[in-house]
Amino acid sequence: MPAALEYYTDKMGDPGNDERPTIMVTWDGPTPDMAGLSGSALDGLVAMSIEGEGLAYHNDEMAHRMRWFIAHEAAHFWLGQVVQYDKEADAWIMEGGADLAAIRAVAELDPEFVASTEERREWQECADALGKGTLATARARGDFQMPYSCGAVLMMGAESVNDGDYFGFVRSLFAAERKDGFASTRDWLDAFRRAGASRQAVRLARHIATGRVDNPAATLAEFARETGVVMTGPAA
Ligand SMILES: [Zn+2]
Repeated sequence: MPAALEYYTDKMGDPGNDERPTIMVTWDGPTPDMAGLSGSALDGLVAMSIEGEGLAYHNDEMAHRMRWFIAHEAAHFWLGQVVQYDKEADAWIMEGGADLAAIRAVAELDPEFVASTEERREWQECADALGKGTLATARARGDFQMPYSCGAVLMMGAESVNDGDYFGFVRSLFAAERKDGFASTRDWLDAFRRAGASRQAVRLARHIATGRVDNPAATLAEFARETGVVMTGPAA
């Protein structure tokens, strides 16, 4: 956690909390057949709860998941607090933003972590989710995962058009929205355009963020081509 916070501060600037960032973990007991992590980030505080027998003993996979999870929650000191999302339909900016921040942070801090596996997983999960409904209505439909995966996909496009500098894109979004404190999908699309996205890339991003996508695999492949996102490594 301290390493992740240092990494993010280096990349995104001082989050401007008065309080020292604090992480609070509660253990909800070894519920059988469960390995659950949940968390929320409040002002200067990340609250995590851990539950299930799957998490009662140390194992490598769980250690990785835990590291990932902490990195995601810690990113909310910036994405979600420096600037928050405007409406529920815009939650993908913060959840996808925190997911990609966690991918970049853990890749830096954990030599065993393979970023491309996570990137590929986000694209696959986003394609599957787009087949069931729009990103803008995901939470209203009870799909709470979609804003993470499709948000991460859109953020990867932004990173790519911004010459591979993901946190530079985030800083420019903050700079534009810091005053009112909220980022909407429209604000994000403006930042995407400023970062150098082509008109077609902006059109595709808007369609992914707000529209009904009839052929998710083809649309995401076109988005990858238009933004220059390259998927490497073996398929997960
Ligand atoms: Zn989150």
